[in-house]
Amino acid sequence: MPEKLRVVCPNCDATNAVPADRQPLSAQCGRCHEKLFKGVPAALDGARARKHIRNSDLPLIIDFWASWCGPCRAMAPIFEQAARTLEPQARFIKVDVDANPDIASEYGVQGIPALLVFKNGQVVTRQAGVTDLGTLRSWAERFGS
Ligand code: ZN
Repeated sequence: MPEKLRVVCPNCDATNAVPADRQPLSAQCGRCHEKLFKGVPAALDGARARKHIRNSDLPLIIDFWASWCGPCRAMAPIFEQAARTLEPQARFIKVDVDANPDIASEYGVQGIPALLVFKNGQVVTRQAGVTDLGTLRSWAERFGS
């Protein structure tokens, strides 16, 4: 039996088992039939982000941000570029801390932007402040295998 990777749908949060030897960029969700990777960050609320954290075999890179935060606006295009170029090695998620204070405090987010990397449900690395594309890439490579 081929090895399978659990990929959580960015549209409906269903957990899909994708054969690891198939090209995941073309895979579609078994429930909602949207593409599992769209090359854009998924904007999720706390409850949805927790489902991804719990069920994803891929590393998740979550950008905790807020609309009033200038450095967060500087981070946004870098994060979008990362999603466009680094999927499906990692899943890129944005969480608005003003709308979702619970998950931000659960993971000890104080200053924003804060970038947290999750693997197998755990925080494996984190960085506060604007983070460059090279760092995001190094995380996707380090935790993506
Ligand atoms: Zn779906």
